[in-house]
Amino acid sequence: MKNVIHAKCVKCGKTYEASPNLTNCGCGGILDVVYDYDYIKKKLTREKLAARPNTMWRYRELLPVEETTPDTPLRVGWSPLYEADRLAGQLGVKKLWIKDDGQNPTASLKDRASAMAVAKAREAGAKIIACSSTGNAASSLAGNAAAAGLRTFIFVPERAPKGKVAQLMTFGANVISVQGNYEETFELSKKAIEKWGWYNRNAAINPYLSEGKKTVSLEIAEQLGWKMPDYLAISVGDGCTIAGVWKGLKDLYAIGWIDSLPRLISAQAEGCHPINRAIAENKPWQPMEENTLADSIAVGVPRNADKALMAIRESNGIVVNVTDEEIMAAQKLLGTTCGVFGEPAGVTGTAGLKKLCGQGVIGKDDTVVSVVTGNGLKDVANAIKFCGEPMKLPNDLDALVEEIDRRGLKTE
Ligand SMILES: *Cc1c(COP(=O)(O)O)cnc(C)c1O
Ligand SMILES: [Zn+2]
Repeated sequence: MKNVIHAKCVKCGKTYEASPNLTNCGCGGILDVVYDYDYIKKKLTREKLAARPNTMWRYRELLPVEETTPDTPLRVGWSPLYEADRLAGQLGVKKLWIKDDGQNPTASLKDRASAMAVAKAREAGAKIIACSSTGNAASSLAGNAAAAGLRTFIFVPERAPKGKVAQLMTFGANVISVQGNYEETFELSKKAIEKWGWYNRNAAINPYLSEGKKTVSLEIAEQLGWKMPDYLAISVGDGCTIAGVWKGLKDLYAIGWIDSLPRLISAQAEGCHPINRAIAENKPWQPMEENTLADSIAVGVPRNADKALMAIRESNGIVVNVTDEEIMAAQKLLGTTCGVFGEPAGVTGTAGLKKLCGQGVIGKDDTVVSVVTGNGLKDVANAIKFCGEPMKLPNDLDALVEEIDRRGLKTE
């Protein structure tokens, strides 16, 4: 890879040649891919970019893949960025955009990391990829691998929502539902990967995944004409996503395509916020219970905490924790004002933004992008529980008129 210099440990600084099978540093630290920005500046121009297909691979020069590695088959990336003026008005901010990443092929932002894992597994000559996941990493890996003709072994905690498990089974993955929490699921996958030598798609072990995820911020910048907002709100579990988002922004800054960097808003659940607690108390992170219905961010032992904490601090970021009720209220708010249906973890960034607006931390002079990271159809059980029941009536117009009157609904 001519665009990559090496991978560097974020803890001790040791560097490694960027082979496809990289995992953690000997010291236990996570590796970070270091680019040759001078080379990239010469190779990539905005004109070249404008002519390319709308997938994450349009940013190839900024991604850690060989020039000869083929694009993965599913259309990952280039999700819509909506101007959400009505919601901006309700929240009291100057400008708000919603990036709906639930519109990826398997319906979450995780497709960006999984497509990268498939590309790197191909470079490594691997036939089987494995991961443990709260759900979306799993379903995205299974889908992207299936499309590329690779097999998968997937470890999920038993609480994974049915929609996600249905995706896994449909994509033909070998699925192991582990009787335990995410931590235990991760441990079993690690042992199995060591035993059979599968390609490892575990976030924070594999440094390429956050490079895939960073394409969400590359897109946001391009969709905004390279003018950045004041804030970028996103939900945080392992921390791989927010670290990737920050990496993408720094890449663009390094090649001179953007001239300011947004402050990150790290949104976590009140019932599980080890990363936000570490920032708020300025202490090393400590494990927490996994006590939230936002299953995709119920991560008590974050695997990418170091990179996430650095990203939040470097960006002069803000941390905010929201209750499950606030999360579900944000799901409804996004649905009614924007027509966007996010899963609970998917709307947690917006829930956090709403809370910060209510507290006056963010207000009428601020511009914000809020990323919806996963689709609401992944977890219909919670949506149905919180959104209430439809009107249940027989085939009888009089009964309908009566019910509409009773509810005081406007019919014109
Ligand atoms: C995985 C996930 C997140 C959080 O990403 P991390 O890298 O674990 O911090 C947020 N939302 C959804 C929908 C996810 O699937
Ligand atoms: Zn190290």
